[in-house]
Amino acid sequence: ERVGVAIVGLGRIAVEEMLPAFAESKHAKPVALVSGDRAKALKIARQYNILDTAILDYKEYDRLAQMPEVQGVYIALPNSMHAEYTVRAARAGKHVLCEKPMANTVAECQQMIDACKKAGKKLMIAYRSQYEPMDRALVRMVKDKKLGALKEFSSVNSQNMGDPQHWRLKRALAGGGALPDVGLYCINAARFLSGEEPVEVIGNTWSTPGDARFREVEESCQFILRFPSGFIASCSTSYAAHKSQFFRLNGADAWAEMDPAYAYHGLKLKVSRVVDGKEQAADMQIEEKNQFAAELDHFAQCVQQNKDVHTPGEEGLQDQRIIEAIYESARTHRPVRLSAPGKTRGPE
Ligand code: NAD
Repeated sequence: ERVGVAIVGLGRIAVEEMLPAFAESKHAKPVALVSGDRAKALKIARQYNILDTAILDYKEYDRLAQMPEVQGVYIALPNSMHAEYTVRAARAGKHVLCEKPMANTVAECQQMIDACKKAGKKLMIAYRSQYEPMDRALVRMVKDKKLGALKEFSSVNSQNMGDPQHWRLKRALAGGGALPDVGLYCINAARFLSGEEPVEVIGNTWSTPGDARFREVEESCQFILRFPSGFIASCSTSYAAHKSQFFRLNGADAWAEMDPAYAYHGLKLKVSRVVDGKEQAADMQIEEKNQFAAELDHFAQCVQQNKDVHTPGEEGLQDQRIIEAIYESARTHRPVRLSAPGKTRGPE
């Protein structure tokens, strides 16, 4: 029996990526929709064979408690709403798969973790890259010491935003600008690829004066994460630059590069090392899989088998601690130290 999921928020990620991904999922099915736009919800319900009676608006959200066919919720709302809708889902007795960034503050992340723990429900943050085959292959290569000791991670995740009225450019809804939305991918990748946690961060932010898009949130952010082994991540993220998404992970013996990285489709992984005295770069042939379906199936299987999720709330909380430290460093023009977190990741 597939795990029944309620989709909360019918925006781009839900409608264009997650709902279509159910077709490739083996363990989950969409059984309810939560939306403020009933006409849109009705249309989508027809498309996915969801009953009209399983369409709720936000005011009716707590009625999920009376819907046993819904075992989990997928939260795809603006960032500021993640905490409230996660806590209410847990109180309604539902497991939660919540989009990134987990929330706007460390305090909210902690409330979400506490609420799900109290309710005995799973909380998974939708870090799709950690369920994607190429990133997973690279994690294995690192563990097998194929790159040697890790030394440098360099990454950019940038895009050029349009409409100045978009919620992503409103501090109250988004929590910040490029950093929590797209810079987050660089932070998370540096952590999950290395398996280390940063002990110090240095950050800078920039907003072009007079650009109407960046009155409330930063346009760009540049940051350095220093890890205990000496591994260093240098990252840049922008909301006003042409779309550019890549990383290069450099070890003592070889480097691996993803370009594009972080994208929904078409990822490319290249590895370069010395073979018979000569530097050789080769594309890795790894079959693409739908990341959203892989993520969904992990969530559903953890629910079915009562297992710990690979990217729980603690993983989102740790990234939020790092984001807040980067902002503090940018504000104070000083490096900021970070204490070690507890365990942030569950089994694969
Ligand atoms: P979107 O603007 O397309 O959708 C947001 C949805 O929330 C819309 O249906 C909107 O109607 C609804 N909503 C409810 N209350 C709202 C309010 N007060 N203001 C604005 N919208 C409101 O956004 P999206 O791109 O789908 O992003 C949704 C979430 O998913 C965000 O947290 C985002 O960071 C995350 N996301 C994740 C990925 C990924 O690859 N994992 C990609 C895109 C977005």
